[in-house]
Amino acid sequence: AATLYIVATPIGNLEDMTLRALRVLKEVAVIAAEDTRHSRKLLSHYGIGTPLVACHEHNEEARSAQLLARLQGGESVALISDAGTPAISDPGFLLVRRCRAAGVEVVAVPGPSALTAALSVAGLPCHRFAFEGFLPPKKKAREDFLLTLRDEPRTLVFYEAPHRLQVTLEAVARIFGRQRQVAVARELTKKHEELFTGSAEEAIAHFADGAVRGEIVLLIAPAEKSAADIEDVPTALARLCGEESLPPS
Ligand code: SAM
Repeated sequence: AATLYIVATPIGNLEDMTLRALRVLKEVAVIAAEDTRHSRKLLSHYGIGTPLVACHEHNEEARSAQLLARLQGGESVALISDAGTPAISDPGFLLVRRCRAAGVEVVAVPGPSALTAALSVAGLPCHRFAFEGFLPPKKKAREDFLLTLRDEPRTLVFYEAPHRLQVTLEAVARIFGRQRQVAVARELTKKHEELFTGSAEEAIAHFADGAVRGEIVLLIAPAEKSAADIEDVPTALARLCGEESLPPS
């Protein structure tokens, strides 16, 4: 049966293309790509000549209907984005939802994503986390949004534009405290790859001189447990002994 493949592509280093991604991109009838010129370079690097159509945020709705019609006509389709995993802060969600609703098989061909790459090396708790995508571009909206996350008990992950990093770090220091630990993963898998970890204050100093360049994932460590969240000794003992609670003495 015709299948929609959601195919991850490298976030910088072309060696991060999987063997399965290469095979699927060769075999499908058409590849839907965010920017066809950009993707043509990737595909010609691997000698893949599959036809490309554009599917970006401005035409995703109309394009999804056309792609669904082709899938229903028996042609398999692969969706790729400029970098990383489609649908993660990238087009794809509408097409996937539409295909699934129509009973078309949707299959993941997983691979790189800046989100998981950054989390996996940042050294911040990652057994659970909250991915917030891009922060609102306007300063006030960004600060209001960050304020709602101040007590978040999970590591926070954002995609951030380099020219906004410094003002965002300043907002993080103000809202989360200057000592809150952060990580800034820049240009992952590329030549100028950098992973900064430290307090918000140290990050501000580190990125202070010169314009910051490249692609960035910003991570914020979880809020420390407040005193109210920390179990008192009798309750902890009771739990360890398998009792609900100790009778008052
Ligand atoms: N779908 C993609 C993914 O799975 O990673 C993300 C697409 S989003 C439009 C692009 C953002 O991802 C960039 O602005 C940056 O925040 C982050 N990003 C992409 N490549 C990166 C890299 N090599 N290093 C750090 N961040 C990267």
